[in-house]
Amino acid sequence: RAKSAGGNRFELADPEADARAITRHGLTTALPAALERGEFFIEYQPLVHLGDGRVHGAEALVRWLHPQHGVLGPDHFIPLAEHTGLIVPLGRWVLQEAVRQARFWHEQAEPGCSVPPLRINVNLSPTQLHHPGLVADTVDVLERSGLPPGALCLEVTESALIGADEDLLKPLRQLAEMGVDIALDDFGTGYSNLANLRRLPVRVLKLDRSFTRGMQQHPADPVDRKIVEGIVSLAHSLELAVTVEGVETGVQAEQLRELGCDTAQGWYYARPGPPDRLHTLSLADAV
Ligand code: C2E
Ligand code: MG
Ligand code: MG
Ligand code: MG
Repeated sequence: RAKSAGGNRFELADPEADARAITRHGLTTALPAALERGEFFIEYQPLVHLGDGRVHGAEALVRWLHPQHGVLGPDHFIPLAEHTGLIVPLGRWVLQEAVRQARFWHEQAEPGCSVPPLRINVNLSPTQLHHPGLVADTVDVLERSGLPPGALCLEVTESALIGADEDLLKPLRQLAEMGVDIALDDFGTGYSNLANLRRLPVRVLKLDRSFTRGMQQHPADPVDRKIVEGIVSLAHSLELAVTVEGVETGVQAEQLRELGCDTAQGWYYARPGPPDRLHTLSLADAV
């Protein structure tokens, strides 16, 4: 997936080759100290309403400023962190930091300003989902920051929930009941049973980038259009919102808007970047 990301200045050209060069072992052993030394940071990528182009929120994407290798994207270290369990404290740090940032944006919002407060999306990996502290940690982070639960959206990949039993869904249900939104990330790649959707405490489908790619030509392949149309109509009938990932061109944005998608994210709008830039983007909307 990251290989096709190409132009992102924070991604290495060939993660696989680089990972080999850097050696998994070296990165794995360096991870815990990196967290303690504060080498991780978060970039924020805006989510935009396809209807009116307004910034609706942002996704928090973690990066590692490695002292020797420079900035490493999550594909270099999230799988290692998952494997070693460091993902739990790292994920907790990301959540805490992103929620703190969102709370700061809320405080900055002018009273009576036409721009609604920004929402924040945070990714959860499967190990975090299985961790018994998930609900308590999330409640704790929200309470300490004062961010309303409704401003937080947790993204879980479709594949992490395939075949999920009630034990796995329970914490997500609890969070959903508190008002936290759950999004199904990379939707459409996991061959999940569509009928299963109604069982999941999910409010948002994030349509995988592969669908966006299919919208590059205008008009797009009729079959590709029908597939997206079908997913959108199913999602909307289940009262789920549809976000599209990886929008790189206006042609894609326009076709996805026509097909009824609600929000979009991608380089066409903005690359992931520092938090202050996002605030500027969202205030620019108000003018
Ligand atoms: P994701 O959640 O599907 O995030 C979207 C990825 O697509 C990001 O890659 C983003 O930079 C990239 N992207 C955004 N717009 C475009 C576009 O227009 N074109 C293309 N080609 N790519 C675009 P990134 O930042 O490398 O993150 C990769 C994955 O790492 C994420 O995929 C997510 O699954 C995971 N991840 C990132 N941050 C965290 C985190 O804090 N915790 C966990 N557990 N996973 C994370
Ligand atoms: Mg995501
Ligand atoms: Mg995604
Ligand atoms: Mg994706």
